[in-house]
Amino acid sequence: MLACIKTANGKVEMMDLPVPEPAEGEIVIKMSMATVCGTDMHFLDEFVNEMVNGIYPGVLRPEGLPMGHEAVGIVHAVGPGVTRFQPGDRVISSCLVGCGKCHECMTVDHSMCTGTGGRVGRVLFGCQAEYYRVPFAEVNVARVPDGVSDEHAVLATDILSTGFGAIERAGAGVGDSVAIFAQGPLGLCATAGARARGCGLIIAVDAVPERLEMSKKFGANVVINAKEKDAAAEIMALTGGEGVDVAVEAVGTQPTFEACTRVLRRGGTVSSIGVYGLTPQVSMPTIVRSFLHRKIVTTLCPSGRDRMEHLLALLQNGSVDLTALFTHRLKLADAPKAYELFRSKTEGVLKIAITP
Ligand SMILES: [Zn+2]
Ligand SMILES: [Zn+2]
Repeated sequence: MLACIKTANGKVEMMDLPVPEPAEGEIVIKMSMATVCGTDMHFLDEFVNEMVNGIYPGVLRPEGLPMGHEAVGIVHAVGPGVTRFQPGDRVISSCLVGCGKCHECMTVDHSMCTGTGGRVGRVLFGCQAEYYRVPFAEVNVARVPDGVSDEHAVLATDILSTGFGAIERAGAGVGDSVAIFAQGPLGLCATAGARARGCGLIIAVDAVPERLEMSKKFGANVVINAKEKDAAAEIMALTGGEGVDVAVEAVGTQPTFEACTRVLRRGGTVSSIGVYGLTPQVSMPTIVRSFLHRKIVTTLCPSGRDRMEHLLALLQNGSVDLTALFTHRLKLADAPKAYELFRSKTEGVLKIAITP
């Protein structure tokens, strides 16, 4: 089968590999659509393969690191012990796979699993291939309803869950003001989440004009181009000098995290979902009005079958339409081009649908 493999830092190649076999508790899925995500870029550029193997033992193949963690497909083969799924089922898996049995899976979230033989946040590698394997399938896989498109199903595996999670975990609801720093695919999902949860003033910040245009479609009332204006000053002015109830960090950099702390009202919440990669530390100013009384919430993609089923129910029955996020379509054989395009942030690229 064709698979996208990271062979060296910053380099992916297409390779012909054997179709995986499902072990105990696993299923193998025939991919219908996959995509590239910001997290893939961190794995591609920052982590040498051996480091990834140290964090998640067993994922590294002799050829390199199998790439991709966001996909939808059809169940191809079912391993021993799996009774919930049959070949032919249309399914998604969380991008983070929990064991479903450890303390963290039971009490926190499947994304925090400590029972998968590695550190927390075990990533599902290998989706950018014709077939991919999902461990602990019964707790991580959900059937996709007929009315949900492949595009929407793919989004549910990661950025929809994370973006909406930023709003949910910040407790933002009816009428609350929200500022979202960065309107890449993840930030756009947070914007859509704020709108879906009935927030009031939604302010979107980015430096790419196409992304700001898209954020208006996804529910932003006001957009600020951070290249042209001081975003923090603008947000304070827009809120009568009070600051917003919730500020979302959706890219994973020190300046945006810090900006979130500066635009918050007293008692507000910074909600951080950006991936900081190998950035070892973020800091914040203490001489700002909200410093003495606020919350900081961090969220890794809420995961597991139940979470997937809830998001799929939203996509099936709610009025959320995120398909505009898919700006480009490529064949699996051209996956390396998808990485180049995604890295360049040119051509208005947001999500790239990769099909076999
Ligand atoms: Zn992702
Ligand atoms: Zn677990």
